[in-house]
Amino acid sequence: MYQALYRSFRPETFSQMLGQEHIVRILKNQLVTNTVSHAYLFCGTRGTGKTTTARLLAKGLNCRAADAAGRPCGECEACKAIAAGTYLDVMEIDAASNSGVDNIRELRESVKYPPTSGPFKVYIIDEVHMLTTEAFNALLKTLEEPPAGVIFILATTEPQKIPATILSRCLKLDFRRVPEQKMREGLRAICGSMGVKISEAALGLIASNADGSVRDALSLLDQCLSAGDKSVSRKEVLDLLGTSGEEVFLEMTELVTAGRTGEALLLLARVLDDGKDVRQFLKDWMEHYRNLLIAKYVEKPEEILNLSGENTNRLKAQAAKMDLSQIREGIVELSGASAEAKWSTRPRVLLELAAVRLSSGEEMEPAPAPRRERPVRRQPAAAPVQQEPQDLPYGDMPAYAEAAPADNLDDFWQGILAEGEKSRSSLHMLRVGSRMVAMNEKVFSIQAKTDTAYRYGEMYRRELEELMQKQTGVSRKLEMLPPGQTPAQGGAAGGAEGQAPAGRREKTAEDLARELENQLGIHVEIQ
Ligand SMILES: [Zn+2]
Repeated sequence: MYQALYRSFRPETFSQMLGQEHIVRILKNQLVTNTVSHAYLFCGTRGTGKTTTARLLAKGLNCRAADAAGRPCGECEACKAIAAGTYLDVMEIDAASNSGVDNIRELRESVKYPPTSGPFKVYIIDEVHMLTTEAFNALLKTLEEPPAGVIFILATTEPQKIPATILSRCLKLDFRRVPEQKMREGLRAICGSMGVKISEAALGLIASNADGSVRDALSLLDQCLSAGDKSVSRKEVLDLLGTSGEEVFLEMTELVTAGRTGEALLLLARVLDDGKDVRQFLKDWMEHYRNLLIAKYVEKPEEILNLSGENTNRLKAQAAKMDLSQIREGIVELSGASAEAKWSTRPRVLLELAAVRLSSGEEMEPAPAPRRERPVRRQPAAAPVQQEPQDLPYGDMPAYAEAAPADNLDDFWQGILAEGEKSRSSLHMLRVGSRMVAMNEKVFSIQAKTDTAYRYGEMYRRELEELMQKQTGVSRKLEMLPPGQTPAQGGAAGGAEGQAPAGRREKTAEDLARELENQLGIHVEIQ
């Protein structure tokens, strides 16, 4: 019968473990010095070796090898029986399916009897956080008065769900995600032992997609080999992965941030045609933006992010290239689309639309329910200083702008930008992200639809004013209005209002940070 790689390559000795050296060191030392604890709590994400290590410890405790430093030997009768699951004194309980108090009562009964074949009886309780409160209480009684020769190894992916009373009686060991380098070495060795040729690029791809989980890495490799191949290339791994994993979200975000809408939609099509679920994709992509936020503003993101060190670094690099408003827009846009997709019969369209909006820097207008909750728009900063009279005569308005409805003004603005785009392509950003709301003989008012567009407007202020003069023959000042702020009464009368008081930019970032904190329940540091 075919056996999955992660079963057939389960380490028999501590030296075969991939990663977790810090834990192996402690356990080996305890075995040699005979100072094992009564209860252990193994914490860590799936596939990092908790159960494997629990079995190694169980073997080490019962191993017959003469040299304590060599335990578990993996060869003696006890080691073999434990590996085969036939050793009576090692019991594995899956708390996910045995979560009730009756199961723990049974366990407490059996704990009373001394080990039958070796010095130790070992109880391995996997997914221990699944136990009911009553079951935890029953377990606690056993942990409080541990019978001699009985060792408990509790394993969990969610240590925060373990009652403090239990925690305080266990030696807690944290399993880390296995670094990619280590993973590659391990995979290379396994391939070597099976006579499989695998390219370095393929190894790298598997390692980065496994995101620190040995089990995921092995099951990926397994799938690559399932066709009976004796060689694995990067392309085969890619075909198999479809386009899932962290990489696709890094790439999607890269594309929309660069405004490469067409490529973003093509990538999306590829991913979805590979069978990726639209709603899941929306959720995962939003999670990626959330991770970007954390990577950007939290000093040690790896403590919060559930990612390997390498993937955290990739995220940090991407976050560094983006500004807060872009990340914020991503979160808002995708969480909205995700909420809508729940009810929609055509969620794919929502996803594509979200990608287009993120790509063009355009924010959605508030729309009818069942829509997402939009964050409260920040209020404009303190009232701008009026440097010019509120009402200016409109006498000198050029014909095209005279009493023009907003639409015509905007057409005019679009024309100006189209002209400007010939020499500076980044003005395209303003074509989608802004509109002209007023103009008089001295000032033209541009309303930004997004924070990004607002900054662009400020950044290219001189060019825009020059363009305007070239087109109309009149020198006018630009009044940039941030999103949500309406022009002063009477149109472009605010004079120098566009030049926000110093300090506003920081205030904006600060506001956004608080907003995000409220939304996501995390602490955001402004750098
Ligand atoms: Zn042994």
